[in-house]
Amino acid sequence: MGSLPESHAIRVFVAGGSYAGVAAAVNLLDLSQGLTPRQNEETYGFHDDFKTFDIEITMVDERDGYYHLIGTPLALADSEYAKKNWVKYSDCAGLQFPNIKILQGSVANVDPEAKTATVSDHLTKEISTHKYDYFVAASGLRRVWPVVPQSTTRKQYLLEAERQIQNLNNAKHGVVIVGGGAVGIEMAAELKMVKPHLKVTLIHSRDKLLSNENLPDETRDVALKVLKEGGVEALMSHRLASTKKVEATDGSVKQEIEFTNGHKIFASEVVMAVSKSTRTTSYLPESAVDEEGYVKIKTNLNFEEISNADYHFAAGDLVKWAGIKRCGAAMHQGHLAAENIHQHITQQRTGKAPEFRTINPVPPMIGLAVGKQAVAHNPGSGTTYGEDVAEAYFRGDLGWTICWNWLGLAGRFVKAEYPKKADAPKSEL
Ligand SMILES: Cc1cc2nc3c(=O)[nH]c(=O)nc-3n(C[C@H](O)[C@H](O)[C@H](O)COP(=O)(O)OP(=O)(O)OC[C@H]3O[C@@H](n4cnc5c(N)ncnc54)[C@H](O)[C@@H]3O)c2cc1C
Repeated sequence: MGSLPESHAIRVFVAGGSYAGVAAAVNLLDLSQGLTPRQNEETYGFHDDFKTFDIEITMVDERDGYYHLIGTPLALADSEYAKKNWVKYSDCAGLQFPNIKILQGSVANVDPEAKTATVSDHLTKEISTHKYDYFVAASGLRRVWPVVPQSTTRKQYLLEAERQIQNLNNAKHGVVIVGGGAVGIEMAAELKMVKPHLKVTLIHSRDKLLSNENLPDETRDVALKVLKEGGVEALMSHRLASTKKVEATDGSVKQEIEFTNGHKIFASEVVMAVSKSTRTTSYLPESAVDEEGYVKIKTNLNFEEISNADYHFAAGDLVKWAGIKRCGAAMHQGHLAAENIHQHITQQRTGKAPEFRTINPVPPMIGLAVGKQAVAHNPGSGTTYGEDVAEAYFRGDLGWTICWNWLGLAGRFVKAEYPKKADAPKSEL
């Protein structure tokens, strides 16, 4: 019954292959095999007459691999970590299934009426058209260098990261990081931790760090204290006016950095950590997004305004939803999109009314890696910090292992091997 084809596998097209996109794909794969989705803490209630079905998942990403975005501040400071932080999709054992096809390219257009998506191939730029039954938008936000590497292949990325690492390593007059948001704080702290010989200064235009985030002052003050404990110097209420190259007395070149208050400092490298993120959703009809390009969603992650809205879902940073954009939320939403697609398929196949999972307003919360320590804020425990907080939130590798395990990228889903509540990304709990 219903309008889904009986004749072929259900085709799911996922735009974006990072936290949200991978979570949607792997949890759907589990459901298609009659398994409780790996990110679900409870046992999933399958309909007695609908336990397994054929699925074909096409996941498209501009990169050739899974890139742990959260690890960027360390990846651009430490060569060994940089290698770990980008894993080609072909090396992710957990994605090697005949019914998961991963394409490297850019989603160029989506026609929700016809249920087709076009992809521009990474190499040839040839356009291919893909018919789908369900669509998941999970292409996040576009961020500038050096907030995020701009390479699309692992090979290029390693060169890009290494250039930056060497430039910073040789910064005999020090490194200035501009922007005291989460990214700038993490960049400064990770750099000082792995290159203690460097003088690292974070400058911020306002009198408190994290000034753009909806967080209590206590969190901002603790972030500054922990940053300084890590050896980073901080200049608050300093707005950058200009930089120019000058010759040092030893003949080397350095940057003269002038602020609007007239104060001047010098450094070998100036790193802009001001995350001007822009939309990735230009492939969607304008009616689907708000004026900034965020996808307008219902609480079950269905698109709000689009033809065939019931067949279109969005998850992760690109959704129009209050709260600080977080990786735990992106994985959580990808997982919920998978369950809700399954509920919809079950309805189409059995007539059973769907029981959709929904998202709630997100209160202010953050987990910030600050060198050896971390600062966290959530409504339950308030503001906390220390090395134990770093261990709980980031496990010594900026959350790489937590996310890798949580998504099950190491291998085929074996229930007992998956981390459960204690290991779930804290921001999701
Ligand atoms: C430096 C930094 C540090 C961070 N630290 C933390 C932290 O400590 N904790 C935390 O919770 N969050 C952190 N965040 C935020 C977190 O990384 C994001 O919330 C998370 O990445 C969102 O995941 P996503 O899957 O929605 O999007 P993304 O991770 O942005 O992934 C989107 C994917 O879509 C692809 N894509 C984009 N456009 C297209 C297209 N047209 N076609 C095909 N593919 C496309 C991209 O290549 C990318 O792989 C940090 C962010 C940054 C930049």
